[in-house]
Amino acid sequence: MPSVFTKIIDGDIPCYKIAEDDLHFAFLDINPLTQGHTLVVPKQETDYIFDLEDNALAALHLFAKKVATAIKISVPCVRVGVAVIGLEVPHAHIHLVPFNNMQQINFSNQKLIFTKEEFEEIASKIRKGF
Ligand code: AMP
Repeated sequence: MPSVFTKIIDGDIPCYKIAEDDLHFAFLDINPLTQGHTLVVPKQETDYIFDLEDNALAALHLFAKKVATAIKISVPCVRVGVAVIGLEVPHAHIHLVPFNNMQQINFSNQKLIFTKEEFEEIASKIRKGF
């Protein structure tokens, strides 16, 4: 059974898309820690990120760098934090979380709630910076 992220990549589940290339896909996390919290995933479904081949792991991070650069110029933040958790969805993914202080990047925090319009607005801003 395909992962929820494969369903997103295939267009079977909607998302707030940021960018894609042949091998990777980026979209807003639906339960964001901060505005602009984005997930970057390889299109090929692999559960554990460190099971990716070296080339695939490197390429995923280079794609994430491009997405992080777009987030940084689109969302007011000190930095874009990077995290790999992977306990919920068994499809390797990198969290990119723009933040202004350490408290914001605690994954135990209550997640923010945005309207569809707010999600679309922030996704559109980041897309323009990509
Ligand atoms: P983890 O596997 O622990 O890194 O967490 C998976 C992340 O995927 C969580 O932050 C979820 O909010 C996010 N997530 C799960 N389903 C969706 C979805 N349909 N669209 C966007 N983000 C999702």
